[in-house]
Amino acid sequence: MHEGRCFCGQVQFQVSGDPVAMGYCHCDSCRQWSAGPLNAFTLWTPDALRITRGAESIGSYHKTPNSYRKWCTQCGGHLFTEHPGLGLTDVYAALLPTLQFRPAVHVHYQEAVLRIHDGQPKMRDLPGQMGGSGETLAE
Ligand SMILES: [Zn+2]
Ligand SMILES: [Zn+2]
Repeated sequence: MHEGRCFCGQVQFQVSGDPVAMGYCHCDSCRQWSAGPLNAFTLWTPDALRITRGAESIGSYHKTPNSYRKWCTQCGGHLFTEHPGLGLTDVYAALLPTLQFRPAVHVHYQEAVLRIHDGQPKMRDLPGQMGGSGETLAE
């Protein structure tokens, strides 16, 4: 069990069990949404996530039906992104301080603006089982 909260603490949540996957996304959407050079993600099945406080303060925006991005309407802090098509929810790694973050894959590396030399696979877009090409790129 790991507990997380938004920037101000109005919204609090728990995830239980182990994430399905952990890594970094380099896509344009993640970079624009996060205002950072990449997004450190941890993916969970939706039932692993439970909101324990402040559910009424969760805002939602979706530019595409693939990603519903959630944030705290009080502080603006980002919380997680639901991916209905994948049946997974990305809880941002930065919000889970007790989870040992072990990134094992980079996705959408063709869009990277910050190259990472960590020896982990660099997927051009997404792994095949997630509907991508499954191709890898050089670091
Ligand atoms: Zn907040
Ligand atoms: Zn992304």
